[in-house]
Amino acid sequence: MKALKERILQDGRCLEGGVLKVDNFINHQIDATLMMEIAKEFVRRFEGTAIDKVITVEASGIAPAIMVANLLGVPMLFAKKKVPSTMNGILKSEVFSFTKSRSYNICISDEFLKKGEKCLFIDDFLANGNAALGMIDLATQAGAEIVGMGFVIEKAFQNGGELLRNKGIHVESLAIIESIENCRIKLK
Ligand code: 5GP
Repeated sequence: MKALKERILQDGRCLEGGVLKVDNFINHQIDATLMMEIAKEFVRRFEGTAIDKVITVEASGIAPAIMVANLLGVPMLFAKKKVPSTMNGILKSEVFSFTKSRSYNICISDEFLKKGEKCLFIDDFLANGNAALGMIDLATQAGAEIVGMGFVIEKAFQNGGELLRNKGIHVESLAIIESIENCRIKLK
C-alpha cells in the first residue's frame, strides 16, 4: 500500500532490537484518514471471504480493526490484557510480548465469541506471531474460525509471517519491512 509505505519511510523511527516506532500516525497519535485507507485496503484484500466478526488485541489493534468492522458492517471484539472483574465466561491465553520481553494473558468473554463464527484478525504489527497465536488459541477455545489475518506492518526479518502462512492461514500485510539495519528502513 503506497501511502502507508511512504509514511513509514517519512515518519518511522528505528529503535534497538528491530523495533519500529510509528507512534505519530499508528501507535499513539493516529492519522484517521490514513487508517481509513488502511481499512479499505484490508476489505479489498479479504473480498469474497465470509466474515462474521473482526477480532484484535488492545490497544493498537483497535483502531484499524474498528474501521474494518465498520466497513464490513460486523462487530469488532478486542482481547483485553487485564481480566475485568465483571467478565463472564473468561477464555484466556498466554502471549509473549516482543516489545516488552515478558508474557501476559489476553482474555475474551465466551459471550462474544461463539462456535462457528468466522473471524478476521487485524493487528498493527506482525513480528514473531505470538499475539496472533494467542488469538488463534482463544478462537479455538471458543470453537470459532479464523478466516484471515491482516497486519498493517509485517516485519519479514522475524518469523511470524512464515509461521502463520505455514499453518495455511490467509495472511495479508499492507507494508512489509525487510530490514531495519543501521536505522535504515528497507521495505519490500
Ligand atoms: P508478535 O506477537 O507478532 O511477536 O508482535 C506483535 C505485537 O507486538 C503487535 O501487536 C505490536 O503491538 C507489538 N510489536 C511488535 N513489533 C513491533 C514494532 O516493531 N513496533 C511496534 N510499535 N510494536 C511492535
